[in-house]
Amino acid sequence: ITGSIRNAVNKIRHQDDVAALNKATSELKKALLKADVHHKTTKELITAIELQTKSAGIGQDSFLKALKSELTNLLTTSGNQGFVFSNTPPTTILMTGLQGSGKTTTTGKLANYLKTRKKKVLVAACDLQRLAAVEQLKQIAAQIDVDIYFDDNEKDPIKIAVAAKEKATKEFYDVLLIDTAGRLAIDEELMIQLKDIKDTIKPNEIFYVADSLTGHDATKTATTFKEKIGIDGVILSKYDGDTKGGVALSISHQVEVPLRFIGIGEKMPDLEVFIPDRIVSRLLGLGDIEGLAEKTSAIIDEKKAKEVTKKIKKGQFNFNDFLDQLSMMSKLGSMKSIIGMIPGLSQMAGPIKDMDFENSAEIKRIKALIGSMTPKEREDPELMNASRKRRIAIGSGLSEVQINKILKQFKNASKMAKQLSSKGGMKGLQNMLS
Ligand code: GDP
Ligand code: MG
Repeated sequence: ITGSIRNAVNKIRHQDDVAALNKATSELKKALLKADVHHKTTKELITAIELQTKSAGIGQDSFLKALKSELTNLLTTSGNQGFVFSNTPPTTILMTGLQGSGKTTTTGKLANYLKTRKKKVLVAACDLQRLAAVEQLKQIAAQIDVDIYFDDNEKDPIKIAVAAKEKATKEFYDVLLIDTAGRLAIDEELMIQLKDIKDTIKPNEIFYVADSLTGHDATKTATTFKEKIGIDGVILSKYDGDTKGGVALSISHQVEVPLRFIGIGEKMPDLEVFIPDRIVSRLLGLGDIEGLAEKTSAIIDEKKAKEVTKKIKKGQFNFNDFLDQLSMMSKLGSMKSIIGMIPGLSQMAGPIKDMDFENSAEIKRIKALIGSMTPKEREDPELMNASRKRRIAIGSGLSEVQINKILKQFKNASKMAKQLSSKGGMKGLQNMLS
């Protein structure tokens, strides 16, 4: 959608008359509808943008400014933003949604988000419809090292929710997240069960997890859940599958419930607070430096980062530092989501967009290689010689060709990092890429 919006903006690049504006708005309209923005929302938006552009004097700047402010307007609903803590902990959240929408994954992501911010979190496994559901939440909880409440002998989700709430209160948890069952489509039984849990537990908020890939249906089912149970916030999952990106633009406007978070990948760090002007900025290809800073500050240890920078400058970056950096990158989540935040990079960074820091074969080879090194070798990359390489080849199962390739990449990377740090960080990187 970013590309098609930029196309629309470019229609008034060389001309500044009504005809050019009409071309731009009709292009924009097409882009929005194609991305599954609701037609009513689209119409309102276009009218407002036309009006604002005309009154400011038609031109590319005024069009872009109108686009930005009207999109931000559209996304700003009254109500809470992000996660809101109750005055009396545990803040209790009921996670709802259709089956497969991403409830269990999002419960984990939210727990991880709160844990990174030093909160004590308990998740409760109240989806007893699917056999594997409890097991799935157990695995996620173990992966992010968050406590879980479950009871394999209990058949009644309400009783589990009650017991979880008791535990969370008694043991001073900050937050309790309750994962519930979904169905393939809205049915009465599901609604009654959720309503029962709601009435018994009295959660502080109910989140509805909507699958952005379902397009307009996401808006429809969210509306039904709002009418039948009452929801306080929407979390839009699978926003990384960018075909139907428009749901994010219309869902809160249509359902009249704020969009609180967006899920942008399958991994635990792939969850973001939904902040309208930041998303708009990204949507327009203008990046989101604030968002990037916030995301990294919760994960990157500043002291360590400074140490590494110093080492890089002195040319002392070694394999241990390299491993540290890799594990930090994996905590940041998918590369795709990070790139969208860097101004100017979103359009050009094709190849690194799909890089997966945990699972790529490349990274696995690098880890195997470093794993077979002695502590001394890890500290001092200069030690590498033919006999050491042969030993490492046997230990790591890599061929010598592969080893040489990785060592060369490592050398280039540390050289580039050194140049970068002397040329002024991100700016230096952009200069190099352009
Ligand atoms: P539930 O039935 O509502 O609990 O849904 P799950 O949490 O089991 O998720 C269903 C599938 O969607 C799983 O394969 C998840 O990995 C995937 N999923 C959830 N959220 C996201 C997301 O933000 N991005 C992507 N790409 N996949 C997601
Ligand atoms: Mg589930």
